[in-house]
Order: sequence, then structure tokens, then C-alpha cells
Amino acid sequence: MVTTATCCHLLAASAVAVRRTVHGAEGSGVATSAVVGFGDLRHHDGRTLEENLSHSRQTSQVSDAPDQAGSSAQVASGRRGSLPKCRKLLIRGGPPVTQSFAGPPFDLDDLIPELATLGRRTTLLWPESGSPGVRDSSLGGPMLWPADEPWPYCGQPGHWAWPNEKSPAGTAPMVPVVQLFARDVPQLQFPEGTDVLQLVWCALIHPQDPACAALPQLYWRSEKEVLAGGVLRDIPVPQQGEYDEDFMPRPCTVSPTQMTEYPNWDFPEELRHALQPRIEEIEERFGLEYTQWACALQNKVGGYPAWNQPPNWPVCERDHRMEHLLSITGEADLDMDMGDMGGIYVFLCRQCPELPYTHRYDC
Ligand SMILES: [Zn+2]
Ligand SMILES: [Zn+2]
Repeated sequence: MVTTATCCHLLAASAVAVRRTVHGAEGSGVATSAVVGFGDLRHHDGRTLEENLSHSRQTSQVSDAPDQAGSSAQVASGRRGSLPKCRKLLIRGGPPVTQSFAGPPFDLDDLIPELATLGRRTTLLWPESGSPGVRDSSLGGPMLWPADEPWPYCGQPGHWAWPNEKSPAGTAPMVPVVQLFARDVPQLQFPEGTDVLQLVWCALIHPQDPACAALPQLYWRSEKEVLAGGVLRDIPVPQQGEYDEDFMPRPCTVSPTQMTEYPNWDFPEELRHALQPRIEEIEERFGLEYTQWACALQNKVGGYPAWNQPPNWPVCERDHRMEHLLSITGEADLDMDMGDMGGIYVFLCRQCPELPYTHRYDC
């Protein structure tokens, strides 16, 4: 995988990013995936927490919103070993390490009832390389697209792919990123009359975007209506120079699984300080970092955004705080680095009838 000129491309060559593979989920009774020695923990890019805060502001897009949880200040006042921690843990010179998240291996209601109240339901997507069909929920898979609706193209001037640093001639076809059917994600509220969510993006680097993100577009559809009108058979595939590998997901099937997760960067400051001693005690007792048992930092629907950096919650044009719709992160099977295991977080405003959405990107 080629590293692109995104925000984390200056990552030290000696650093080895931890692969986050999450196994086991609520109800499955399975909690596998070894977690081994976190000897030398630090932020993946060596930035201090204060620098992260500044960095995050630089990578924000669209409207800047006040952080409801007030966690920016909390992060700025953080210290090594305090929460929240960046998920991307590094072991200097060591082998890749799997970070596991299977939910708390203990009864949180007993140990930290105050934290239990911050639990949010989320649907983990668990992407696995495969050959999903147009009527399957997928990441990077073929889409159930109406035959009479042209496939979207991006014509943003100046978009480019590393290492060409030149724009493709004309427009570039968007690429399928997420397709979810209501039957697979029962927790997700679909707008009336729809039962399919689709997200595509232009897989190029966009200079208009301070974070150089791909530009997502969201669609809500009715499966029945699309089938009745016929499905587009030939979805165009971007050619060399029309995409950046960092943002090209490999087709994956998904195994949506509901879980409860807890805040990482969105941890309210006062509560974090109050709970810190008990959380550290639990970390010690179970040998698990907070992010390993509390935060689903992966591809998911709902719950907390899988931020890599301090939160930057968007508001819509009418000043409503938007809700987190889904997170797309660079899990291994997707073969999509997103600037070193970064993520794109999509937000939606349900208070506005036109359902405006926007995204954030960090890594
Ligand atoms: Zn573009
Ligand atoms: Zn709104």
C-alpha cells in the first residue's frame, strides 16, 4: 500500500501501527484475538496531546462546532496514561500488535455505574474480504443502483492521486464505499420509505478539503423501487490516476453486530477525572487498556465516532448538532489505509427535513 500525502504520511518509518482486529461481540460469547505487550505506548505520530488538539482543528471540515462533551479541553489537559488514549498504539521496533475490543470483560454496572450510563449502542460491521452482491450489505461492494440514474462522477478541479500530483482529465467515477440494508442494521433509523443506505466517494485527494479527504455522498433508497425500475449493471471503475489507493476499499462482506461502547475522545472531562482512578484500577486488574474494552474504533453505524483525534462535531446550517451516522476506518480487509488507519466519520441532521450530512476525516 502506497502512503499518500494525507495527514499522517509523515509517520516515522520505524513505527509499526497496531492492527485493530475485534472479535467477539455481545451475545456471541466469543472474545478472542490476542492482545500482547503494550510496552512503549505513545501516540502513533509522536504528537503530544496538545499538538493533537491543534492538528485536529486543522483537519476539520465544513462547519466547526462546539464540542458538546467539552473534551477538547480535557484532551489538552491530559497526561500520559490518562484517558482518552489514541487507539493507534505503537511499539517501537516491535511486531504488529492486535488490539482487541470485545466489550468489557466485567460487569460495568457494578464496577463503574457512572460510565455505564455513557454506553451507546453501535452496530459493528466487521468487514471481511469477499464477493458481496448488489443486494448484500457491504463495504466496497457493488451497489443496488437505479438503472435510470447516472452513476455519480466527481469533477472537483485539482483533485489528484499520489504520486501523480496531477488531476485526471475530465471527471472521475465515484467508488462504492458503504451499502447497508435496513434488515441488516435494525438499530439504524431509515428515512420513511427507504431501506437502503449507500455511500460513495471520489477516491482522490481534494485540495479544497483541508484534510485531503475523499468526498462522500450519501443516498437513501427503497430496495423495492430500485428493483422495480431495474438495476444499473455497469458501475464504472476508476482507472489509474483516477483514484488514490488510500481511499479505495476492497470489496468486503459485513457481519453487522450490535454492541455497547463507551466514549474515547468524547469522554466528558469532569467525569473522566472523577472516574480516572477506578478506570486505572480496572486497567491494571484486567491487563487491558481502556480503549480495548470500551471503544469500538472501527467500521460501525451509530455509537461514538471512531475519532483518532480530539472530537470535531459538526452542526448543520441551521445550527443543529448533527448525529454520528457511521464511521469508516482502515481495517485490514478493506486494504484502505486512509492516511495510516485513519477514518471518515459521517454525520447527519435529522432535525432538518432534507437530512443534510457532512463528514470529518482524521488519522
Ligand atoms: Zn474528486
Ligand atoms: Zn439541521
